[in-house]
Amino acid sequence: MTAMRRTEGPLAAQRDLVIGVDVGGTTVKAGLFDSDGVEYRHSERPTPRHLGPDAVITTTLHAIVELRAQVPQAARLVAVGLVVPGVVDAQQGIAVYAANLGWQQLPLRQIVADAVGLPVILDHDVRAAGLAELELGAAQGLQEILFVALGTGVAAAVITRGQVSAGATGRAGELGHLPVFPEGEWCACGQRGCTETYASAASLSRRYSAAGGISDVPAQDVISRAAAGDPLAAGIFNDAITALGRALVNYVLLMDPELILIGGGMAASGAVLLDPLTRQVQAGLAWRPAPTISKGTFAGDAGRRGAGILAWHGLKV
Ligand SMILES: [Zn+2]
Repeated sequence: MTAMRRTEGPLAAQRDLVIGVDVGGTTVKAGLFDSDGVEYRHSERPTPRHLGPDAVITTTLHAIVELRAQVPQAARLVAVGLVVPGVVDAQQGIAVYAANLGWQQLPLRQIVADAVGLPVILDHDVRAAGLAELELGAAQGLQEILFVALGTGVAAAVITRGQVSAGATGRAGELGHLPVFPEGEWCACGQRGCTETYASAASLSRRYSAAGGISDVPAQDVISRAAAGDPLAAGIFNDAITALGRALVNYVLLMDPELILIGGGMAASGAVLLDPLTRQVQAGLAWRPAPTISKGTFAGDAGRRGAGILAWHGLKV
């Protein structure tokens, strides 16, 4: 089930390298990087969340061991960066709460450090993805950016003054739980009318099925059906654009970003998604111009690239 690939170049000997791992609800993605962010190998394997929280830890360790075995003798593996969803206490190295992975108060940094005998950095997946875009991707050289990960869920990395902000308690960027439809549908978080309830990939699929469409249609297909004139899909897609547009308008009014970058799996829809979203945001801003809304550089790879960058940052502290 594991896919292992060579990526950007021949593996140079006599280099220091790091491993970056993005532990997602669906896939564990790992890469081997040098200090310039060049990726030499990467692997992807399914997250065995149906087998429980410990199995996810074991799979994460396997991903690291497998890439470590690819490091040439003359090169040196110096650190591991690990990024996970949910609430993360980066300073203490604890996965505080990851509903999808079944983790609560898990001292993951220590567990992995004990297993691999290297310095380990633990941080948040979407903030890491935003960092990858900031240091190596579409947001290079910019200061005020919102990076939005549109995938199974909806979350964001707030970048201000050229720095990714975690907030006071590590909970900044919960764009998916901004309420945008008063008295709207219930969200898993306990509030009503959250952005994520309408705009996530999972919600597009679920709402299309609930409205009388076919079950288990992936979000991207709901979007294509909407574009092809399926009225049911068009209604669901329109709700998603309205929800996301309202959330982004609120962010623009508060923070005045120069760029909004869309990443995550749904970004692959490209203009079919970005054009109506841009129009929605422009329409919601009566007296000021809207910032540019565009696609991130790294799509689904941004998390593990950010994990690699964080591993290097950790060595410098
Ligand atoms: Zn919510």
